[in-house]
Amino acid sequence: MVNAAELLREPGLTRRITTSLGLAEVEISADGGSADDVQEEVGRGLHGPVGIDVELTSTLDGIVAEVTLSARLEMECSRCLVPLDTQLSITAVDTFAEDDAGGEHFPIEHRQLDLAPMVRDALLLAIPDAPLCRADCAGLCPVCGIDCNTSSCDCEVAVIDDRWAALDELRGGDTASSTEPT
Ligand SMILES: [Zn+2]
Ligand SMILES: [Zn+2]
Repeated sequence: MVNAAELLREPGLTRRITTSLGLAEVEISADGGSADDVQEEVGRGLHGPVGIDVELTSTLDGIVAEVTLSARLEMECSRCLVPLDTQLSITAVDTFAEDDAGGEHFPIEHRQLDLAPMVRDALLLAIPDAPLCRADCAGLCPVCGIDCNTSSCDCEVAVIDDRWAALDELRGGDTASSTEPT
């Protein structure tokens, strides 16, 4: 919790805060300990603590927060399964407001800001669905499983479209006659 009483006294004031929060404090479960399945899924691979560097600026309507987050993320390349150990660096800009009828801002309650929901949202957004070790990762051979980035194999990887295979069967092999006008 950040006491925002000072900031709220006058628009245009800024305050910079450097801190850190554990994953549990931002309600992200990285090890499956949460009752919320969605949280478990998206938080996978994240490691705390989350480094937080935030600049708060008071406005007429509330407080603008420019935040930079850092956290470690361990995943696997979605193509070749090589372990990826990355340091996330996330920037986000959010607003806090005392009067939040529309639900568009994070709330200021009793002149206090809770940074945790903002941190949580930004972290979850930053986790890629299908991470890659590099943009042109060649992946694994679907036949023998060899890593095509570092090795090559002689597997015949036939790209068969099922629709064409079905059509060939229907034709029964006499494709030559079908081209002749009858
Ligand atoms: Zn890869
Ligand atoms: Zn192969």
